[in-house]
Amino acid sequence: MHFVLATRNKNKINEMKAILQEAGMSVTVHSLDDFPQCGDVVEDGTTFEANAVKKAVAIANCTGMAAIADDSGLEVDALGGAPGVYSARYSGDSADDTANLNKLLNEMKGVPYEKRTARFVCCIAMASGDDVKTFFGYADGRIGTEPKGKRGFGYDPVFYPDGHDRTFAEMSESEKNSMSHRYAALMKLANYLKKQV
Ligand code: IMP
Repeated sequence: MHFVLATRNKNKINEMKAILQEAGMSVTVHSLDDFPQCGDVVEDGTTFEANAVKKAVAIANCTGMAAIADDSGLEVDALGGAPGVYSARYSGDSADDTANLNKLLNEMKGVPYEKRTARFVCCIAMASGDDVKTFFGYADGRIGTEPKGKRGFGYDPVFYPDGHDRTFAEMSESEKNSMSHRYAALMKLANYLKKQV
């Protein structure tokens, strides 16, 4: 099977290849870098699903190949689901991970432990011709009161996955990946693809 992954992010491409191979699939994953004629797609949807579908459909149309795209972010219950689809630019358009994380900790000041529940969400969309399928993965946990750990990216230093007293940023890459929202969504995609061959 041949797919193009609608991203230029090498980490995502490697993670995707590894998970699909682990699921026993023989796949060739092309990066968007192999298709310089396809421009970046603006993520202006109001849901993870809308953004993932928009990217997958645009790249499938541009390349003529089956395309896979993802969109992900953090939903915090005490903030009514924010930052949600705006996770990457929570503290403004030119926001970086540290600014976003500091804004989140500020917004959560005074929120008691039992109300600090949150989840990472990932939606993966696969577009092939007119056919579009979506797969969701979740990682449930809690928001800490200060950053802990140096690994990972984004909100990892303040996210304690359920059942653990270490943040994602205190875990090895493989430990985090084994319980991540992206892993869960990718496994659903892999199981779907397996049934197609
Ligand atoms: P994207 O879907 O890769 O564009 O992710 C959007 C934003 O969600 C990122 O910039 C991060 O702020 C946040 N995010 C998504 N996945 C993770 C994760 O695994 N750890 C920490 N932050 C994440």
